[in-house]
Amino acid sequence: MDLLEHQGKAYFARFAVPVSTGGVATTVDAAVAAADEAGYPAVVKAQVHVGGRGKAGGVRVVPDRASARAAAEAILGMSIKDHVVRAVLVEPATDIAEEYYASFTLDRAARLHLGMLSARGGVDIESVAVDEPDAVARLHVDPVDGLTDEACREWVARAALPEAATEGVVTLLGALYRCFVEGDADLVEVNPLVRTTDGRVLALDAKVTLDDNAVFRHPEWSEYHGTQELDEREALAREKGLQYIGLDGSVGIIANGAGLAMSTLDVVNQAGGQAANFLDIGGGASAAVMANALEVINTDEKVRAIFVNVFGGITRGEEVANGIVEALGRVDIAAPLVVRLDGTNAAEGRAILARHESDRLHSRATMLDAARTAVELAEASPAGRGGEG
Ligand code: GDP
Ligand code: MN
Repeated sequence: MDLLEHQGKAYFARFAVPVSTGGVATTVDAAVAAADEAGYPAVVKAQVHVGGRGKAGGVRVVPDRASARAAAEAILGMSIKDHVVRAVLVEPATDIAEEYYASFTLDRAARLHLGMLSARGGVDIESVAVDEPDAVARLHVDPVDGLTDEACREWVARAALPEAATEGVVTLLGALYRCFVEGDADLVEVNPLVRTTDGRVLALDAKVTLDDNAVFRHPEWSEYHGTQELDEREALAREKGLQYIGLDGSVGIIANGAGLAMSTLDVVNQAGGQAANFLDIGGGASAAVMANALEVINTDEKVRAIFVNVFGGITRGEEVANGIVEALGRVDIAAPLVVRLDGTNAAEGRAILARHESDRLHSRATMLDAARTAVELAEASPAGRGGEG
C-alpha cells in the first residue's frame, strides 16, 4: 500500500523523523486558505501516487495569495502520468541549502535491510544513480542488530555529506530506520532530504510503501483505504472480502484455498492459457460466496472463460454444486464456466452439475481436463464483448 506525500510525512512524524508540515486541500479556496495559514512564500504540491511531480509542474513555490490561487487552479485536476490530482499539500516554503537522498528497503537476495544515501538528491537522483553509482552510498543493515549510531556515522561520512549536515542527518536516519522497521514499511524514501539555510535537516518529500502483510498489526492503516488506487476488480473484491489479484490473461479463476488457486494458475498455463486473476474464496463455497466471486470476475472484460476449481472439504460437493448453480441464477455471467469438483461428496456434486450442463456450464473430472476446456473456450470466444471490439 502506497501513501501519498502528506500521509507519508505524518507517518514519518510518528517516529520523530523531522518533516515540513502543512495543510491538505481538495479545492482552490481551501488551498488558498491553507497558503494564508502557512504564510508566504508557500509551496503547493500535487498529491498523487507517482514521483516526478516537480518536473511535471506539480510543485510550485508561490510568493503571494494570487499566485497561490493560480498554482492551486493549475495543479488541482492536472494529470501526472495518468494520475489525476485530487488534492494538494500546502506548506511554508522551505529555504533549501542542499538536497540529499535517503531510503531504506529490503534486499531480499541478501536477506538484509538496505539503506541508500546520497549527497546528490533532488529531482535527478535516478540519473545520478545510473551515471554515477558511486555517488550513492549503500549500507546493508542486519535486522537483528539494527542500525547502530556508529554504522550510521560511517555511512554518512562515506556519502560525503557536508560536516554541517552530519549530526542532523544521523539523527534523521535513525528515526527513519525505526519508521521502516517498527512502521512495517517495504520502502521509506526521502528525496529531497534537505539542509535548510538556517541549518535544520528535514524530509521535504516522503515516499512510504507499507507492507500489506502487516495490516493485521495496524488497524489504523484503514485510514489510507480511501486514497488507494485499486483497479476496479480489486476494489470490488475487497468490498466483498475476497482474496483477489488481477492478472492479464483471459481465463478467470475461482479456487478454494491459496495453494489450490496457485496450482490452478499453473495448470491453466500448462494447457496453453493465461489466467485473468488469482481468486481464493477460502474454505466456504456457498452460493453467496460463489456469486460474489463471479460478480468480481464478470467485471473483467478480458475474461473469456471461467475455471472454478473446488476441492470439497467441510463444504461438501453437493453444497458446492448447488452454490454454483444458484450463483449462476443470480449473476448474468459473460463467459462460460468450467467446473472441476473433487473431494468430499464430489460424485454427488458432479451429478448435480451434470443435470445443469449447458454451453454456459461445463463439468470436468480432472484439473487438467477442466483447464484444457477453459482454455479452448477462451480461445474460441470472439475477442471483445458487450458491444466493443
Ligand atoms: P517529486 O518531484 O514528485 O519528487 O516532488 P518533491 O516533493 O521532491 O519536489 C520536487 C522539487 O521541488 C524538490 O526537489 C525541491 O527542489 C522543490 N521543492 C519542494 N518543496 C520545496 C520548498 O518548500 N521550497 C523550495 N525552494 N523548493 C521546494
Ligand atoms: Mn521527491
